[in-house]
Amino acid sequence: MNASLGNSASSRDIASVLHPYTNFTAHEKTGPLVITGGNGIYVSDESGKNYIEGMSGLWCASLGFSEKRLIAAATKQLETLPFYHNFSSRSTNPTIDLATKLLEMAPVPMSKVFFANSGSEATDSAIKMVWYYHNAIGRPEKKKIISRKRGYHGVTVASASLTGLPGNHKLFDLPIDRILHTETPHFWREAQPYESEEDFATRMAEALEDLIQAEGPETIGAFIAEPIMGAGGVVVPPRTYFDKIQEVLARYDILFIADEVICGFGRTGRLFASETFRLKPDMITVAKQLSSAYQPISALFINEKIYAALKKGADEVGVFGHGFTYSGHPVAAAVALETLKIYEEDSIVDHVREVMGHFQKRLRDLNKFDKIGETRGYGLIGAFELVADKCAKTPFAPTGWAGKAVAELCLTEGVILRAMGDSIALCPPLIITDKQIDDMFDKIEIALTKWHQSI
Ligand code: PMP
Repeated sequence: MNASLGNSASSRDIASVLHPYTNFTAHEKTGPLVITGGNGIYVSDESGKNYIEGMSGLWCASLGFSEKRLIAAATKQLETLPFYHNFSSRSTNPTIDLATKLLEMAPVPMSKVFFANSGSEATDSAIKMVWYYHNAIGRPEKKKIISRKRGYHGVTVASASLTGLPGNHKLFDLPIDRILHTETPHFWREAQPYESEEDFATRMAEALEDLIQAEGPETIGAFIAEPIMGAGGVVVPPRTYFDKIQEVLARYDILFIADEVICGFGRTGRLFASETFRLKPDMITVAKQLSSAYQPISALFINEKIYAALKKGADEVGVFGHGFTYSGHPVAAAVALETLKIYEEDSIVDHVREVMGHFQKRLRDLNKFDKIGETRGYGLIGAFELVADKCAKTPFAPTGWAGKAVAELCLTEGVILRAMGDSIALCPPLIITDKQIDDMFDKIEIALTKWHQSI
């Protein structure tokens, strides 16, 4: 990582860039890993070393790093109309085409699509629409939003409040009020020894109901969840968890927001994980794989019930007072539209279904290592968790050093993964082949063997 320390790119980086999610003291010592090129599922650094991008960057570059059709789509739109906005009834053809296409693809009937630039902005927009909705229909007290511990929904003031990770709250004076967190459905870590998955799912739904009761159901406006938790450590819920959760939400007339920012567009072997987990959300957020990350764009689907209330509210106020300069940016929309075309024409979701069994098998094989407590995942997303004691599931103390060490060794072997504490996430581009999956896991196994020998 620090081979380039002292060269101008590294020292200029240290001198000038404030890196997200980075320890600044360590960064000043090691410098950046400067990525300079990409080809398929691989990226390369300035020394020419190649890496398998086992995380698709940040769970996003679904079509890899050299899809010519996306480059052509961006270029064509830049030449035609590089920018126009969507405020005050203005529109552009890529925005219209993309919204139309997304509504056709939606896993449940949806009425409209609101565009933003990032997952955080989509979440923030959803929060504001929940509040607006309840005001417009005359229930101004129904404003609290329930998220989950270890959930991840972004980093803006409100979306970071929904995120249920201590590092996103501590020293930031978050969460803001009206945001609550319920339990994490992580069976391996959180279940009692005697509990079946079914019993555990029931207890999780009861915990949600207890929270609603304690706060007063008339004050709870919405619940938000990722179908599979990503940044919180890749947590796949028990099979019936969401059925039970949705029963509770329906009982108290609470809106459901599905955060499909990671899962959307094929990650679980279905177009949307809402299909995989039988979700019936009122709103859905998507980003990342929407454009294979070639352009920053996110979208928020809202159903007819929400739209009707927003329309009523806007009639009262004059206009709906929300939107970003770049909402529905034509270049980002054109790239997203082309991404969706590629998913269809290249049968990407079918491809995911073909390779995901092999991916999950190779992931489960890592259980043979002494310090791996759990391997978990679904589709083309997964994680393995490092523990001090496999039987007792004892975490390492302090948290994080083992994850960091293993991720570093994987990097040396030529695989980029992401450590979240002592869980290491895998989320490769959707175009990965069986052979590349083998190559990736062979390298991970070499890194794990070296690490086990070293501790
Ligand atoms: N929701 C989920 C599920 C995410 O994983 C992320 C980002 N990792 C976000 C929201 C926030 O997206 P962004 O970083 O684009 O703001």
